[in-house]
Amino acid sequence: MAFASYNSKSGFSVGSRTVLRLDRPLTVSSMKPVAPSPLPFASAATRTKSASSLQRRSSVGSLKTGKDDSGVPGRVRVAVRLRPRNAEEQIADADFADCVELLPELKRLKLRKNNWDCETYQFDEVLTETASQKRVYEVVAKPVVESVLEGYNGTVMAYGQTGTGKTFTLGRIGEEDCADRGIMVRAMEDILADISPEHDTVTVSYLQLYMESVQDLLAPERDNIPIVEDPKTGDVSLPGATLVELKDQQNFVQLLQTGENNRIASNTKMNTESSRSHALLLVHVKRSAKSKQEKDLVIPQENGNGVQLSKGHRAPTIRKSKLLIVDLAGSERVDKSGSEGHQLEEAKAINLSLTALGKCINALAESSPHVPTRDSKLTRLLRDSFGGTARTSLIITIGPSPRHRAETASTILFGQRAMKVENMLKLKEEFDYKSLCRRLEADLDRLIAENERQSQAVLESEEEMERRLEEARIIVVEAESRLSAALETLAEERRKHQQENKETLQKVEVERAEMERFEQKLKKNVQDLQDQKEKQTFAEKEKHQKALVELEEKYNQELSNVKQILETERAHREKLENELKELLKKAEETTKEESLRTERAKEDELQKLKQQLEKEHLLREQAECELKKIEQQHKKTNGIIQDNEDSSILRQKVEQELQEKEKLEEEVRALKQQLLQLHIEAEESKRTLEKASSTRSSVCSDSHISINRPSNMRDTINGQRATIAKLFEQVGLHKILSLLQSEDVDVRVHAVKVVANLAAEEGNQEKIVEAGGLGSLLMLLQSSEDETIRRVAAGAIANLAMNETNQELIMAQGGIGLLARTADDAEDPQTLRMVAGAIANLCGNEKLQIKLREEGGIRALLGMVRSRHPDVLAQVARGIANFAKCESRGSGQGNRIGRSLLIDDGALPWIVANANNEASPIRRHIELALCHLAQHEVNAKDLVAGGALWELIRISRECSREDIRTLAQRTLNASPTFQAELKRLHVVY
Ligand code: ADP
Ligand code: MG
Repeated sequence: MAFASYNSKSGFSVGSRTVLRLDRPLTVSSMKPVAPSPLPFASAATRTKSASSLQRRSSVGSLKTGKDDSGVPGRVRVAVRLRPRNAEEQIADADFADCVELLPELKRLKLRKNNWDCETYQFDEVLTETASQKRVYEVVAKPVVESVLEGYNGTVMAYGQTGTGKTFTLGRIGEEDCADRGIMVRAMEDILADISPEHDTVTVSYLQLYMESVQDLLAPERDNIPIVEDPKTGDVSLPGATLVELKDQQNFVQLLQTGENNRIASNTKMNTESSRSHALLLVHVKRSAKSKQEKDLVIPQENGNGVQLSKGHRAPTIRKSKLLIVDLAGSERVDKSGSEGHQLEEAKAINLSLTALGKCINALAESSPHVPTRDSKLTRLLRDSFGGTARTSLIITIGPSPRHRAETASTILFGQRAMKVENMLKLKEEFDYKSLCRRLEADLDRLIAENERQSQAVLESEEEMERRLEEARIIVVEAESRLSAALETLAEERRKHQQENKETLQKVEVERAEMERFEQKLKKNVQDLQDQKEKQTFAEKEKHQKALVELEEKYNQELSNVKQILETERAHREKLENELKELLKKAEETTKEESLRTERAKEDELQKLKQQLEKEHLLREQAECELKKIEQQHKKTNGIIQDNEDSSILRQKVEQELQEKEKLEEEVRALKQQLLQLHIEAEESKRTLEKASSTRSSVCSDSHISINRPSNMRDTINGQRATIAKLFEQVGLHKILSLLQSEDVDVRVHAVKVVANLAAEEGNQEKIVEAGGLGSLLMLLQSSEDETIRRVAAGAIANLAMNETNQELIMAQGGIGLLARTADDAEDPQTLRMVAGAIANLCGNEKLQIKLREEGGIRALLGMVRSRHPDVLAQVARGIANFAKCESRGSGQGNRIGRSLLIDDGALPWIVANANNEASPIRRHIELALCHLAQHEVNAKDLVAGGALWELIRISRECSREDIRTLAQRTLNASPTFQAELKRLHVVY
């Protein structure tokens, strides 16, 4: 029997073919073919879905074995839909109740036999006259559509009397009202939404079966299309039908409309729109489903071995499923339809196929061994839908009119029988060998090319290896020959070295012997020398003692001689005094005349005696003096001897000194404390005063350099100085100066400030220099890295340089060199001002001019004009003026001849440029300098060339100081060079 045999065979691959059918069974057993089933359509669909996913998970096992061929039982689901009364019925049946009563919540339907009796039927779904198209789709068709998308075949079929709403349920396009859309349109919407346009395809055929002839509704000329059955698989196909690939919904709607237009429909008495043909919409869904399993796939071969595919070559699978939507022609009886002639034939044909369908369903429902599938084309086409592998949903449509009760009852019975039909759902999956083959071929080509390249590379690398091997061999041979040569040389050298070593050892031996001899000799010499030294020391000591004794004796001798002389002198004096007395006595005794005569002679004699006496006295004093000297010398000699001998006294002295030192250090610490305190006080008072006054920087135009700037702070400064003077008295200058060498920078800073303040007082300057302060200050200038210390030290030196003696000392101690270096290095204008002030003071000493210039003093002074600070420039100008004044004085006294050293050192351009400087201290000094330079004819030419003549003229006219103005006038008049120049330029002066 065809149905039965199909059930057992379908979905299998055939022995020798490599194509595998991947029909997989569902494992869910809940879908038992129990009718009537209380399970709703939707829940059944859900279960199928999960079952199919289970199935997918186990599909690989089936691929390997290829044995599992059993399907999953899937009963045909049946829903009943009641059409609402139409206009005609509303009038005709107004007085009658409907022939059916629906109990949708119980999924039951009651069919009235008469007014007092009815029969109840259970369905899978009961859809009332108000059921929406959407709900009908969802409970009837949607589970089938989802199955189709998963790879199962599916059928949705409407059965019922003409005019009960089959076409309404299936075929409504819903152009006017989208809520009217029927199952076909909604099914296609869901399919198109789910598939992937790149990998999947959807093709559609639309046919009708009319009078046992299959016609193509998309190409009406194709008539009588044959139905082909695959004898092995049992698959039914219509190769002659048009297959249209669908891309979008719009496409499909057009296609439906075309089909509908072509559909032969003739009116019957019962319904002007009902159709007499069965319409079949066939949707083919082809989806590529890559295996999600990670295991390698094996393709079985004829010899039993499998070809193992690498992970990269897993066979892609495709699922081919069909959705069949069948809108059957009316099931009403021929006699009742009132058809005649051709229409009678139609009705026969329609009822033939419907009768055949009814028979098959009866057979299937009763599990009869024979199912008469071949009796009609309809049953052949629905072979898979009833008793096959498809998921099938049947909707039976009924009308409410009691006039058609018999047709309604027959329809209900058809539905009841169909509910008993059990299908075996099977997945339609197979390997996509074409794409696998394409991929494998591409891989093969790539591998062949790769293999070729690698073979070539291996060949080349072998050649390269051989070449290198040959090279290496040559290198080894060369290296071996070099090695043997080197070994020979080494052996030769070794022999030579051994020989040399031997000789060296011998030499060393000889030298050692000699050394030993020399050492002994040396020891002896040292011994001799020590002996000699001892002897010598002893002899010398003796000699010294002897000389000492001799010296003492000599002194004693001289002493006694002197004493003797003294005694003699004294005796002689006494004698002379006595003689004088006697003479005086005699004189009294002589007469008056005689006395007058002799008196003069006697007086002369007396005078002589007096002179002699004085001489003697003088001699005596000299002798005494000499004696004293000798005694002192003696004492000294004795003292030295004693010192050398007495070391304990020395030790005592040292200890005393140490104690003294400790005491001094204690004092120094106390002093530091005092100094800091003083400095803080001074800073505080300075700040207070600075705040109170809006002062300018003082311009020191005189030789005194002030450390604290504002001029109106003199009182404070005086106050500080008084405090410092007090400190100076209390502490002593030496201690203050010692703090200049303190390791603590702060202490050094304070100390140098104190010293600078002291140096500002003329009375202290000499003391500071005497105590070595100048040296300390110069040292600070030379070695200190602290800008403040250098600035204050320079200020102190500048103050000390006011004094002529100090100026000489500064020069003698290399001060000018240090000042010049500081002038070169410093950038701080106040430091430069101090240095310039110091040099300016030195410039005022005529005796030092040459040395000052030789040691770079002028150059340093001129170098400082780079600062441009008016205070610095004022000091530079003062220095130049001082220098020019001294030169002028020296020239006047005839001590110096020749051109000014200032001009030699290039000072003239700056002098001329600043002769009319805005700052009066600068201008005044330069004007003075110019006048001094101009006084000497020897400078006149340079002054003219440097443009100084015009400045002199200006000075002679405009200078605020009358003495300078007069000096300039006089100079201009006196100089022949100036006069000649003025004449040449026709300047009337
Ligand atoms: P059949 O295809 O079974 O011959 P039709 O689908 O052509 O019947 O329907 C006959 C008439 O009844 C049509 O005019 C249709 O619009 C109407 N009709 C059918 N079912 C319904 C329904 N459920 N609600 C409203 N009208 C319906
Ligand atoms: Mg119809």
